[in-house]
Amino acid sequence: MPAYFDHNATTPLQAAAREAWLRASDQHWHNPSSLYREAGLASQALESARARLADWLGSEPERLVFTSGATEANNTLFAGLSRCLPPDACVAISAIEHPSLREAARFWLGRARVTEIPVDEQGRVTVERLEGVIRRIQPALVSVMAANNESGVLQPWPELLQACRAQGVRFHADASQWVGKLDSSRLGDCDYVTLSGHKFGGAKGAGLLMLADEEEAFPLLVGGPQEAGRRAGTENLPATEAMAAALEQLAPDLEAVADRQSILRDEFIDRMKALFPGLRVISEGAPRLWNTVLMVMPRHSNLKWLTRLSRLGLAISTGSACSSGKEGSSVVVQALGAEWEELRRVVRVSGGWQTPADDWQELAKGFEQVASGLDEEASGRS
Ligand code: PMP
Repeated sequence: MPAYFDHNATTPLQAAAREAWLRASDQHWHNPSSLYREAGLASQALESARARLADWLGSEPERLVFTSGATEANNTLFAGLSRCLPPDACVAISAIEHPSLREAARFWLGRARVTEIPVDEQGRVTVERLEGVIRRIQPALVSVMAANNESGVLQPWPELLQACRAQGVRFHADASQWVGKLDSSRLGDCDYVTLSGHKFGGAKGAGLLMLADEEEAFPLLVGGPQEAGRRAGTENLPATEAMAAALEQLAPDLEAVADRQSILRDEFIDRMKALFPGLRVISEGAPRLWNTVLMVMPRHSNLKWLTRLSRLGLAISTGSACSSGKEGSSVVVQALGAEWEELRRVVRVSGGWQTPADDWQELAKGFEQVASGLDEEASGRS
């Protein structure tokens, strides 16, 4: 079976999520907006999922709007802001946001109203940098992702949130890579949060946007009363139930998984450094997700590494899946000021909750094997 190291792009469906999806599809397939008893049961199931997810986030059910995923949640946020902010109000986002956030902000508000907060040499937004930007442009909203999808770097979002609070600025966290991997019970303190079920073993097609309060209506999609008028369209109950079930299945083990997997990840890094002198791990000095390694290989292009590893049954990526297929597309490494030549050599490895030690070892061996082939070809050419 191939070893899968692209969990930050998407994850396989967890057993509990699959069960929840099937149960909801079989038993609660009725339209929750209809008026007969079975429809009422479907509606109750949806509200139960909302209450459990709110509980998980330390939030209130009324603040959660279900969406098709994080891209829609990010667009919903900025589409809403484009309608309710004064026309000259601006926002600040970190320089390493996911394209679904950066492009949504620019599209809905216009480029001129979106300022990027630069990151430090570890790829983090510091309180000082944030405060500098707040003083300079007085944004209506600050958006900083909780954990980065490429490097796995964790942003100090509780401190950034406090700094925003002190200045009366609203704070949004795209927590798509955080939720399901780390304790999320304080995310409800943020004004806005985005997350996506397929990043932690839920089914594709469900995510959510947490709003600042239950009153706020930010419809991106109009034409129906669903989600209290905040997102029209028949609800995806099976995927929403699967999202709640996936989180509940992960909950009891999160700390043990983080401990176990970060050891395996670090052993992999040590092995890679021994095999490839000059290999650079991005944000190595900063707290990072326990599953993620973003590396600049000392030689050969990332697409070559990726395709050769794939032939050995090893799945990795060249950075964000949303921009992979393009060599040198890493937003993070670019924000850190890397040269074009270096960007072409960036690869991302992201393991899962259950990734066995053997798979991590297999991956290092795979890199070693691919290297000898690529080196041979390169020396034959020169
Ligand atoms: N934000 C982040 C940080 C992500 O990693 C992703 C997925 N790559 C998204 C948003 C988009 O999520 P979705 O696939 O649910 O639209």
